[in-house]
Order: sequence, then C-alpha cells, then structure tokens
Amino acid sequence: MLNRKFNSLLKFSLLLALLTLVACTEQQDKQPVRLQGQIFGSFWLATLPDEWTPTQVKQLQAGIQGELDKVDASMSTYKPDSELNRFNQAPLGQWVDLSAELFEVFNLSQSIASLSQGAFDITVGGLVNLWNFGPEVRPEAIPETSLLKERLAASGYQYLELDNENQAARRLRDSSIDLSGVAKGYAVDKVAQWLRQQGVDNFLVNVSGEVIVAGQRAPEQAWRIGVEVPDGSQQKAHHILELTDESVATSGDYRNFYEFNGKRLSHTINPKTGSPVDHNLASVTVIHPSNAAADAWATAFMVLGTEASLNLANRENLKVLLISKEEGAWKTQVSNYLQQSLGAELTNKLLN
Ligand code: ADP
Ligand code: MG
Repeated sequence: MLNRKFNSLLKFSLLLALLTLVACTEQQDKQPVRLQGQIFGSFWLATLPDEWTPTQVKQLQAGIQGELDKVDASMSTYKPDSELNRFNQAPLGQWVDLSAELFEVFNLSQSIASLSQGAFDITVGGLVNLWNFGPEVRPEAIPETSLLKERLAASGYQYLELDNENQAARRLRDSSIDLSGVAKGYAVDKVAQWLRQQGVDNFLVNVSGEVIVAGQRAPEQAWRIGVEVPDGSQQKAHHILELTDESVATSGDYRNFYEFNGKRLSHTINPKTGSPVDHNLASVTVIHPSNAAADAWATAFMVLGTEASLNLANRENLKVLLISKEEGAWKTQVSNYLQQSLGAELTNKLLN
C-alpha cells in the first residue's frame, strides 16, 4: 500500500517535473535575453528578444557597459578626473575645449534651462553638495544661510557660456556644473545609438530608471513600461505605458531623499531658492524621443510643480504624466500631447 502510494507519488512527481521542464523549454524559447551591470552608483538593464547567439550576447553586454563607462568618465561629479570635474576646476573666465559629447549635453541643458526659465539648471552643483546630494560629505544640519546665499549667488545658467563654433565653454561665476539630472538619460541615448549601429532593432534599455525602447518585445507586442507608485515602499506599477521607439524618464521625490527633523528633503533643488523643492507633486514622467531631453525636462517639472508644469508641457508640446498627492490620494494628470497620442480611452484609463 505504502509502496503503491509512493510509486504513484513518484510517477506524479516525475510527470510534474517533465511538464515543468516542457513548460520551461517552451518558455525559454520565448524568454527575452536580459543583460545587466552597474553604472553611476546604480544599475543598468537591457532586454532583447531572444535572437542572438551567446557570443553576440557577450559582445552586446560588453559594448553597452563600454558606452556607459565612457559617459561616466566624462560626466561624473564623483570621479575627480572626469572631464566635467576638470572643467569645474578650470579658472573662471577661461574657455575650455570640450569633447563632442560633453558639449552636446551642455548645449541641451542650456536650452532646457532657458525654456524652463531656469527650473532646470546645471550650475546648481554647489547647492546640491550643500544639501548633501552630491559628492561632498553629508552635512549634519540645514545649511547655514550665509553659505547658501554664497552658493546661490555663484550659480545661474546665464553664467555658463558656450561657444558653438569651437565646442568650448567657460564659467563666469564660481559655480559647479552638475549633470546628474541629464547624464543618465544621455547615457541611455548613447546605448540605444550604439545598439542600432550593431544592427539591434528591438531592445529595452533601463539605466537607473530612465528607459528607452526600440521596436517590439515580440512580434505584434509593444514594450510595456511601468510607472511606479510614488511612495517608495514597493516598486509597484501605478500605470503601464505601451510604447514603441520612445523613451521615458521619471523624476520623483520618493526614491532619493533624506529625512531631516521629520521633513523629507528632495534631491531636486529649486535653483531660485537654493533649497530642495517642497510641494505635492510626487512624480513626473516625460516621454520623448531623446532620453536626455526627457531626463532634464522631468527634473525641470519637478521644480515647477503641477500647475506650472502642465502649462509649460502644453506650450512646449511635451508628453508628460504628473502624479501628485491630494488629500491623501494620488492624482494623475497628463499633458495635452500625451492625451492626444494615447487617445481618449487610454487617457481615461490612466486618469481613473
Ligand atoms: P530623478 O532620479 O528624480 O529623476 P535625476 O537623477 O534625474 O532625478 O536628477 C536629480 C539630480 O540632478 C540631483 O541629484 C542633482 O544632482 C541634480 N539637480 C538637482 N536639482 C536640479 C535642477 N534644478 N536642475 C538640474 N539638476 C538638478
Ligand atoms: Mg532628471
């Protein structure tokens, strides 16, 4: 009896194992290839449909890491010998020749600074450090008013001058340029560009939450990108966006912040006041063909708050999704262009 029971149990387990195996192989055939690594003190992930040999996958992994490392070596504020840090240490008023990449990011940043009337401003490095979000040592208290005033006076995107013809730049005030609000997005664009050059047409690349998708994840299937619930507790999707050949950047006050005297301090600085932003806008998602632009705009909107952001997004024809906290509940709002491109049905789904 016991034996028979054991026997049938064994048969059942074998059958189960076999079924699982079949399911796995079947699934494995369709399983996308996932690549990953580390960059900018964070992670990167890439997903490709399973159409590459193991050797090709290895080459793609190394190539992606190489593209990211190049951006890091140029634009990091954490690496003392980065091109950016060398620029920050050059004497005031002195023109410095820049690499094509760094110049491109300076140029894009300056144009978004001007369009956002200084809400996005890469000269905020000194203030970022003062509030503890940069490479300097974390302060124990709210910064001294005098020091804050000093660094505020040294910043301002108007005091960073660019020379288009010679691809050079110079600082007119003792500010510290910080590209953390745009470099991740730029790195995503660079990886996408490199992948296309390798003949990879279908991919998703995610660098620390900034995402680009190309083509499809499978025939007739768009890539799906989740927009997190902005509470930082669990990485749960609040909205799912189905996209083809687009990129997405999100800025939020829920992942990178610290508490001081019971108050949450965001790592986004309002360049007008020199202090962390403080309003009910919890997350901004920007959808744009250029991830560098999406990244910078997301930071700009985080500074501007819900209403000003919607106005500016509509004026500049940008696809933007805003999640704010109102009376204890999340409220989603979308710009006109996003609404148009999603259509009424999908927009309603997002808003409910
Ligand atoms: P998020 O992860 O919320 O999208 P990002 O990483 O894109 O934010 O950008 C935040 C970083 O940008 C900050 O840590 C700081 O270094 C820099 N930063 C903060 N405020 C501004 C601003 N107003 N304009 C440009 N860069 C900023
Ligand atoms: Mg940003």
